[in-house]
This record gives sequence, C-alpha cells and structure tokens, in this order.
Amino acid sequence: MGHLVDFHCRYCRYEEKDVAVGHGRTAVPVLRLFSCPNCHSFGSCWVEEGQSPRCSFCYHDAVTLLADDTTMLACPKCGERAKVTQRSADTWE
Ligand SMILES: [Zn+2]
Ligand SMILES: [Zn+2]
Repeated sequence: MGHLVDFHCRYCRYEEKDVAVGHGRTAVPVLRLFSCPNCHSFGSCWVEEGQSPRCSFCYHDAVTLLADDTTMLACPKCGERAKVTQRSADTWE
C-alpha cells in the first residue's frame, strides 16, 4: 500500500502535491520518488524489475531515485533545501 507526498520549495515556490509512492495491491511494480536533472522536476514514477526508471514528465531515463521516506531534498529547480512532506495517513492502493 502506498501513501502521498507533497513537495514544496519555499525559495522558488516550486511545488508538487499528491505525489503517490509505494505499491498497490501487488508488490511490483512500485512507485518511487525521483528528481529529474533533465527537466528539473520532482515526482514519482513506476519502477519495474530490470528496467531503468523514466521521468514521468519528460521520459528522461537517468533520473535520481530517492528514498520513499525522504523529508528533505535539494530542490530540482533552484538547488536549495526543500521540504518533502510525508502524508503517511493519506494512503492509496
Ligand atoms: Zn524529467
Ligand atoms: Zn526551489
């Protein structure tokens, strides 16, 4: 079962809300958080065994995967430390 995550950078005001992480009724595939160095965005993407994860915005295939429980992240747009809010009570499956 997965939960939702919000990203908010107070420096450049970039934000992404309701980003889903985790997995649904089956263990794979799994939604993982990423930051994309190509289009400078934060989001989540499906990760499948043996396949490289792709950015869900620009399909760049060399995104940086983040730990599911990340709470701080260098903002992909401005590089400042930004907050990742783990909304662990907001679950999906
Ligand atoms: Zn991208
Ligand atoms: Zn920023």
